[in-house]
Formats: sequence, C-alpha cells, structure tokens
Amino acid sequence: KIEKDTKAQLEGAKLVGVTVDKFLDFPGWYQQILTKGEMLEYYDVSGCYILRPASYFVWEQIQDYFNSAIKKLGVRNAYFPMFVSQKVLEKEKDHIEGFAPEVAWVTKAGSSELEEHIAIRPTSETVMYPYYAKWIQSHRDLPLKLNQWNSVVRWEFKHPQPFLRTREFLWQEGHTAHFSFEDSNEEVLQILDHYDAIYKDLLAVPVIKGKKTEKEKFAGGLFTTTVEGYIPATGRGIQGATSHCLGQNFSKMFNISYEDPEGKEDKLFAWQNSWGLSTRVIGVMVMIHSDNKGLVIPPRVSQNQAVVIPVGITAKTSKEEEIAILDGAKKIEKELLAAGVRAVGDYRSNYSPGWKFSDWELKGLPIRLEFGPKDLQNESVTVVRRNDSQKFTVKLSELSTEIPIILDNLHNDLYNKAKELFDTHKVVVEKWEDFVPALNAKNVILSPWCGDIECEEDIKDASAKRNDGEDEEVDDKAPSMGAKSLCIPFDQPTLKPDTKCVRCGKEAINYTLFGRSY
Ligand code: AMP
Ligand code: ZN
Repeated sequence: KIEKDTKAQLEGAKLVGVTVDKFLDFPGWYQQILTKGEMLEYYDVSGCYILRPASYFVWEQIQDYFNSAIKKLGVRNAYFPMFVSQKVLEKEKDHIEGFAPEVAWVTKAGSSELEEHIAIRPTSETVMYPYYAKWIQSHRDLPLKLNQWNSVVRWEFKHPQPFLRTREFLWQEGHTAHFSFEDSNEEVLQILDHYDAIYKDLLAVPVIKGKKTEKEKFAGGLFTTTVEGYIPATGRGIQGATSHCLGQNFSKMFNISYEDPEGKEDKLFAWQNSWGLSTRVIGVMVMIHSDNKGLVIPPRVSQNQAVVIPVGITAKTSKEEEIAILDGAKKIEKELLAAGVRAVGDYRSNYSPGWKFSDWELKGLPIRLEFGPKDLQNESVTVVRRNDSQKFTVKLSELSTEIPIILDNLHNDLYNKAKELFDTHKVVVEKWEDFVPALNAKNVILSPWCGDIECEEDIKDASAKRNDGEDEEVDDKAPSMGAKSLCIPFDQPTLKPDTKCVRCGKEAINYTLFGRSY
C-alpha cells in the first residue's frame, strides 16, 4: 500500500522546468538552464562556480582534441606554480599595467602577515619566462613549446557570468619560443585554426577569425589574433580564444636569448607566442543553442548522446509485452554503446515517459529513442531530436549505422542555424548615422575604419547611452554599453580607394568588426 502511494505521488510530480523566457530575461534564463540542466552550480564566493560532470565532460572533449592537435605541432604539456612573486610579476611594464587591477594577492599565512606578498597568476608569462631564459642557451634549444592546463585568477569587477567571465577559470595556455618571426607567426595561425575547429567541429559554433586592434591586443604583445563569436539572443559579440604573437618584447625583458650560430651578433632574442582558450567556450555554446525547454548540447561534447525510454506501457499491457518492451529498450541501449554512441536507458518505473522526456530535454541530450508496443511489432524505434523535435523511425537492424548519421546531421544543423544567424546579423555599415541603429537591432557591424585608437574610443563613447543629456546621436533605447572593436577579420570585403572611416572621416585602412560585447 505504501509503495503504491509513493509511486502515485511521484507519477504526479511535475518536473520543474525552465520558467523564464530566453528572449524576455536572458540572464535569468541562462542561470536556470545551467543549474536545472545540472551543468553548473553557484558557489558562495562571487564569480566562482562549480563545473558539474556535464560541463566538465565538454572540457575533457576539448582537451582530447587540442592535446592531440598541439602534440602534432611538437608542443608538450607541463605544469608551473600558481604563485608569482611581485618582483617577477612586475618585470614587463605594459603587461602588468594590463593586468594589475585584477591580480589577487596572498598577503597572509594564518594570522601572520607575509613579508613579501605573493600574486596568484592571472596568466603565466611572468611565471614561466625566467625559466625559458635558463633553458634556452643555444639555437639547439629552440623551438621550445610548452602548454599547461590550469586555472588562473582574474579578480574582475565587471559583472561575473558563469563560464564567460569568472574570477577563477580553467584554460590552457601555450607558450612557445622560436628562432624567427616567420616560425612564430606560422604557429600563431595554426593554433587559431585549431580554436576555430574546436568551435565549429565540437561545439557547432561559428566564429570569425581576425586580428585585434592595437587597443584590444594582449598587453605587452606584438599582435593578437582571435576567434570572435556572436550571441544572437542579445546581439553581442564575444571573444572566443586568442593566439598572441609576443614578438621579442618578453624575451628582451626576461633575457630569453641564445648565441648567434653565425657569430654575427652578441646574442639573439627568441620570438615568442602565447595562446589560450578557456571554459568560456562552454558558455558560448550554451547561450547559442539552448532554448526555453533547457540545454541543447551538441552531440560530440554531450556526455550522454542518446537516451532510450520505454513507452506505451499501460494498465492494459500484458506482463509479457511489458517485459518484451523493457528488454527491447535495454538491447537498443547495449547496441548503441557497442556502436560507440554514448547511450543511457531510463527505466525508472516511478516516472511517466512524458516526465522523462522533459527531464532529458532539460539536460540537453541530443536525441531520445522511444521504444513502445508499435516499435516492438515493427522492429524499429522512434528517434526524436532535442533541438527541433524532428522524428525518425529507424530499423533496429540499422541502429549502429543510422544513429551516428542522425547525430552528425544534428551537429551540422545546429552549426548551420547558428551560422545563418551570425551571417544575417553581421551587417556592413558605411555611414555613421546607420551605426547605432544597426547596433540596437542586435547586429555586429563591419565598417571601414581608420585604425586610430582615439577614433575607436570615440566610437565606443558615441555608441553608448550617456546620462549627461548629450544623447542627440544615440537612440533612446540603446543599451548603456558602447561598441568595441571585436576584430579586423582576415576575410575582408574589398576596400574601394578613398573609402572613409565610418566615424571620423579619415581614410579607412580596412573593414573592422564592431559590436557590443561580453
Ligand atoms: P587573454 O589571456 O586575456 O587573451 O585570454 C585568453 C582567453 O581566455 C580569452 O580569449 C577568453 O576567451 C578567455 N578569458 C579571458 N578572461 C576570462 C574570464 N574572466 N573568464 C573566462 N574566460 C576568460
Ligand atoms: Zn576613424
């Protein structure tokens, strides 16, 4: 009697799904899908979050891909300490100026004040390079290519956002030293291509490759290349990952030098790169694909790719048929696992199929397989896609070939949908009067631009809503944030001679991508 009652209660239990709309309250929606979808948990230190297995799995898939890619380039993994002394941290002036406001310090041990305060790495150039100087003595020690998978701390004061902007985040940071500019430059772009591939081939996210402007480049570096993404729901751009050519700036500061093999120079300085991709990528993926039913996780990074759910069992179903359906479902699960599909079966008897559907939808599983009386009869199974509810009937004999195809198609459809939204919201604007309206219509903007830092600052200012009553140029509904340059895309529209800068009217030197951004 007791068992029956509990069953009935659970059966009637309503799944508490997502209660906010993606387009009405984006931050509220984002928070709910992450926590209810069991990807992330909030933590009691602001700006820090717990990555639960579903999101850590995504990170592991990225690690697998990237480790294999960089090892082919001769990069090896290592680990350096998280602490750095003040003296070493402040060695490169431009670099520390860029990071100083965000550095967290250890000032005490127990109750005693430390004589010398110790910084927690915001990035590891200054941690690693004194040792690069020690290890590199001759040209035979080059190239030196190391990467580490670690966490860094940037005590940001901008509003924290799970994955996108956190105070501690996981990333990889690669640091390499080369003989020549050509050699380092080639690697900068090879790494950028791998970042592009992580977004496209694993996360089904389109990005634009380009170079950062002088204002936005990495502090202390020569130039920064980047992949830039776009969040359609908010119309904002986001820096996806960066690959920096550091030039010889750090090698001169840290004396990373070697004997000239030709004996012409006293010593030669190494050319250096650094490159990083963080757990931010997970947030970008979630924001782009997920919907009001919960998470939508692209199949290649989803810890479970398919859930098998027995359906159509009612009070009238005979015991034999019920057993046949359950056994059939379990057999499907086994076959999928054998075919390399990460499948799970949901055989809980205390929840209805409908409840289970919603539960797995919330978690973002790419497909569910429903197996009921009809399927049993027809020796087939019904497959439903998470992203668009498209249904297919698949013969049981073809499971091992058909399901991987369905998953691949789903990946491509997610990518293509996101790509179309990016393409149609990347608009070319030549005249300033069209700039802010286009921004307000949730676009990112490709404009002819002069390349001046002051002009870039002016664009940011003029596209922000100000509270000083000097808003003539700005639409009333403009969000307070101004537009930043996202990148100078490698793929450029042809710049006609005498094209003027969209803002200041000076001669344009290229088309630059601008947008409100994270
Ligand atoms: P950076 O060293 O500043 O070029 O950063 C490398 C990459 O880390 C960037 O491209 C971002 O994608 C990511 N990143 C930077 N700051 C944060 C943060 N606070 N939280 C998460 N990811 C970050
Ligand atoms: Zn200008």
